[in-house]
Amino acid sequence: MARETTIRGDDAFGDEDDDENSQDPSSEFSAGGGFETSEADDELRPSRLEDVIGQADVVERIRILLQAARKRGEPLGHLLLDGPPGLGKTTLAMVIPKELGTDFQITSGPSLSAPKDLLPYLTNASEGSVLFIDEIHRLPPAVEEFIYPAMEDFRVDITLGDGLNARTINMKLKPFTVIGATTRSGMLTAPLRDRFVSREHLTFYDQSELATIVRKNAAKLRSPLDDEAAVEIALRSRGTPRKANNWLRWARDYADARADGAITLKVTHAALRMKAVDKLGLEEIDRRYLETIITVFSGGPAGVQAIAHTMNIPSDTLEDEIEPYLLRQGLLQRTPRGRMLTAKAFEHLGRTPPDRPNNDDKNPGEQQDLF
Ligand code: ADP
Repeated sequence: MARETTIRGDDAFGDEDDDENSQDPSSEFSAGGGFETSEADDELRPSRLEDVIGQADVVERIRILLQAARKRGEPLGHLLLDGPPGLGKTTLAMVIPKELGTDFQITSGPSLSAPKDLLPYLTNASEGSVLFIDEIHRLPPAVEEFIYPAMEDFRVDITLGDGLNARTINMKLKPFTVIGATTRSGMLTAPLRDRFVSREHLTFYDQSELATIVRKNAAKLRSPLDDEAAVEIALRSRGTPRKANNWLRWARDYADARADGAITLKVTHAALRMKAVDKLGLEEIDRRYLETIITVFSGGPAGVQAIAHTMNIPSDTLEDEIEPYLLRQGLLQRTPRGRMLTAKAFEHLGRTPPDRPNNDDKNPGEQQDLF
């Protein structure tokens, strides 16, 4: 039997403190090209599974889930998608109901501050529809408890009133699918994680996949794009389609403003240089992170909280948006004692590692060959 979760009548339906969604400081942060979702994302989002580039294994498994659900006439099992920002979690979640021909609702963990915020989504969920919860690791515990019976038995238990007058309403829901997205699957509680039938991890894209995305999207935007420029944008997009799209748009603006509208290799170089995107796709903020570890922590090991305080950036932002690509690029190591830079990071920044004899660091301002 699923555990009963109650929400107090007043709390559940009172219109007092219809509070603003508690804003995460990190969600306001954008590392130049930006990790924020926007309408721009929607314009370039693939709408069918066959248009989704890359993530071949994940897509194939989702295809099987869809076929099985269709054959049995049952809703898809709850699905958890995890991976760094901008890799396609929302995209996949939106494609699924389109493929199934069912409804789609979207919300996010931080915007659901109490069970009453979740209730309308649950009662509105039509049969077989998808409820997408972004940043599901940030669901408050009370909301999380409330969603358990909804996911397990398609039921919610609502307590109205107090004391002797209290009564519980048991509300049946239509069978529906929760798709959760998270950049931190490790922060999910075990009971919530266990309620997802399938879990998929999205990884960074390779260069040729990103170049394909860039080419397709340039065509969607009706912008002439040289092949070399597509490859260059792909190279500097940190393995992330959202970045690739953002750089494509920027190169397009640059081409329109400073050239004849064609996105050539020369235009792309000039545009990305203006944004201080280096050969590895690192931006100002990434380099500041590496420089902080070098100058303040002698190359590490350093705790993420200490680095976050020094940089005045939320540690969540460092962990979700900055570190994954640096780790993947072999510029950074996570050790039990903290973050450490690798020799490759020192080399990339034109610095001498501290344990080398001739420790005369070059001025970081002189890093011409970075770009
Ligand atoms: P996330 O939810 O993981 O932060 P999104 O799904 O919002 O990422 O993806 C950001 C943008 O990147 C989308 O608007 C879409 O245009 C593009 N994108 C993501 N994944 C793919 C993909 N596999 N193929 C093509 N474009 C993609």
